This record gives sequence, structure tokens and C-alpha cells, in this order.
Amino acid sequence: MTDLKSAKESRICDTLARLKQEHLLRQEICLESPADSHVILEGKEYLQFASNNYLGLAGNPRLVEAAGKALARYGVGSCGSRLTTGTQTPHRELERALANFKGTEAAVLFNTGYAANSGIIPALCGKGDVIFSDELNHASIIDGCRLSGAITVVYRHNDMKDLEAKVREFHGGNRMVVSDAVFSMDGDVLRLPEMLDIAEKYGLFSMIDEAHSTGVLGKTGHGILEHFGISKFPDLLMGTLSKALGAEGGYVCCSNIMSDFLRNKCRSYIFSTALPAATAAAAREALAIIESEPKRIEKLQDNIAFFLQELGRHGIRPSTASAIFPIIIGDSQKAVDIGKKLKHEGFLISAIRHPSVPQNAARLRITLMATHARPEISQLANALAKNVRK
Ligand SMILES: *Cc1c(COP(=O)(O)O)cnc(C)c1O
Repeated sequence: MTDLKSAKESRICDTLARLKQEHLLRQEICLESPADSHVILEGKEYLQFASNNYLGLAGNPRLVEAAGKALARYGVGSCGSRLTTGTQTPHRELERALANFKGTEAAVLFNTGYAANSGIIPALCGKGDVIFSDELNHASIIDGCRLSGAITVVYRHNDMKDLEAKVREFHGGNRMVVSDAVFSMDGDVLRLPEMLDIAEKYGLFSMIDEAHSTGVLGKTGHGILEHFGISKFPDLLMGTLSKALGAEGGYVCCSNIMSDFLRNKCRSYIFSTALPAATAAAAREALAIIESEPKRIEKLQDNIAFFLQELGRHGIRPSTASAIFPIIIGDSQKAVDIGKKLKHEGFLISAIRHPSVPQNAARLRITLMATHARPEISQLANALAKNVRK
């Protein structure tokens, strides 16, 4: 018995030891405050440039109040899946608000963005079908493709010529193209108009993931469609409530028919307890704030332009079109070391390593928020210039 146990454990220990040796062992930090631009960590205050709370809404009093009211009225847990007893008024209201926000007939709420992607893709595609997926798509999309059992054809990053060539080459039953709208580790924007043209020309389902574009792109923060000023819609406009909206959950905006289909066929929708009503109420309040306070989006976009300008003064020119700034370092240990130095100087920044990014493409992933002040952004640019040797 003990021998068996130690054999089991030794395999796990080997894996951990290998990760450590490759500088890929990860450990959590624990914040003692909301996920704001200033956070408390180990009793000390840091200037945070690592959160996806782009509009600073996670700790916003209006969200907290909306959640509190719903908490008092509906209790903590929903204690049922959406199709049994888990649907409460705030879920319905949020779905309506999301559909209105994106301009679609319907919206379907999921517990996380991960659950949305890993559930929607296998609902639409299975054996005999073909999925075309950008090589830098988020892990939740990759997992959805794997779960589906369909053939997944990976095309070169944001390369619509390569996509079209592969669409001409690979045939099957249902065919679908799926992509991040803003790529989560690189910050660049999908060439959506070309992608939608290809999808239309070849009769593919189209799905985009607006995790990092909702609340960020477009003059009023409505996302990638507003950014490009186009009125064509993908079949599935998926996103998360957990980033610029400051709450938790995933969603997909789509037609009524697609909504009915997904509610009946998505396993992650059917076999999981609905979000707490309080979370849904908070997300709905976030949408209302975005609609009524466009200045927040303006401030975020102004911060982005200012940071690029400040970095440029130091000869650092990350390529980005969003609130995500990748500063590519390459070596994992080096990226971690620079992250530590910056922490010592009072900045909280994520060093991103494999498997979140390819091997030898470790980077600092800096994210801006509407609540950062210009002098804070200048300070960070100066610190980066000092610590990142180009
Ligand atoms: C964060 C993220 C997700 C997952 O969303 P969660 O709500 O965190 O589960 C999905 N897609 C992309 C592109 C993301 O960045």
C-alpha cells in the first residue's frame, strides 16, 4: 500500500520538480483588497498593472450595491441549473441587457467565459465537422475544440489568407471559424471584417470571443463591431462578464434560434448550477454604467494612447491595439526576475510564461485601467525603461 502511494506521489513530485527547474512553477499571490489600480498584497500597497478590470468596475459602489440588493432578495446560491430551478429574475434581466448592448435578438448566460467556450463549440461541432481556429486563441477555445471531437484546423495568427486557404482545403459537415476578438496575451485585434467575409463566402459558422474587447474597443465600449463600424454579425458573439464588466460569468449574444439551440445542447449550460443572482445583477449594473458613463471608456483609451507615447519616449514600442501591452522578454526566468524587480519598486505586473504563451515567448503582460492616473502611467514607463534591457 505505502509503496503504491509513494509511486503515485513520486510522479507528481517529478512533474513539480521539472516545472521548477524550467522556471515554470507557478504560485498564487493573494490580494487583501479589491482588484483595483491600487491593491494591498502582504500588507503593502502596490500600483497594479495586471488586472483585467479595465474600467475599474469590480469594486465600484454601484455594482456592490446592485449585488447587495440582489443578495438580500434572492439569497446566495441559485441551487439549480438554468433549465431546472436556477433561473431567477436577474439572470433574465441580464440576458436581455446583454442582447440590447450588443444588438442581437438574444443572449445566453454561462457561469464563466471558460464554460461558454468549452460548451458552445462542442454543441455546434462534433465528429465529421471542421473547426478553423487561430493559433493564438484562448485555452478555453482550444479546450472546446478538443471536447468537440471535430477536426480542428489551426491557422496562422490573424492571417486571413491562410484561413481561406485552409477553408478551401478542409471539408466536412458543419464548419466553423473561431477567434479571440482581442488576443489575450498579445493585445492585437482580429481582422474581423475579412473573417466574416470568408465565413459568409464559404458558409461557415462564425464565433468570436470578446473577453478583452467589450468595454474596451469602440468609442462607447461596445466592442469589436463598433471598433470596425460594421453591421455584419458573427453567429456567436461570445464574451465574459469577468473583465471590463468587473463581475463573473460568460455570455454569448446570438439569434433566438441559436439561443434555443444552445440552451438545449450545451453541456456546460445544462449541467451546472446557475450563477448567483447577485453576480448577474452586478454585471447588469456594469452594462448600465458603460451606457451612461462613456467617459470611462474615453479615459481608458486616453490612458492607452498616453502609455504608448510614454513607452515610445524610451524606445519601447509594444504592438497592441487594446488595453493589453505585451513586453516580450523571451526567457521565462528573466521575465520572472524583471517582474520581481518591478514589484520591489511597487508595481504589480504579471510575468506570463509557457503554457499561457509559446516557449521562449515569456513576457510582461501589462494591462491598463480607466482608473490609472497619468503620473502613475509615467512612473511605470520609467521603471520599465530601467528594468527591461532591449
Ligand atoms: C479570460 C478569458 C476567457 C475565460 O473567461 P472567464 O470568465 O475568466 O472564464 C475566455 N476567453 C478569453 C479570450 C479570455 O481572455
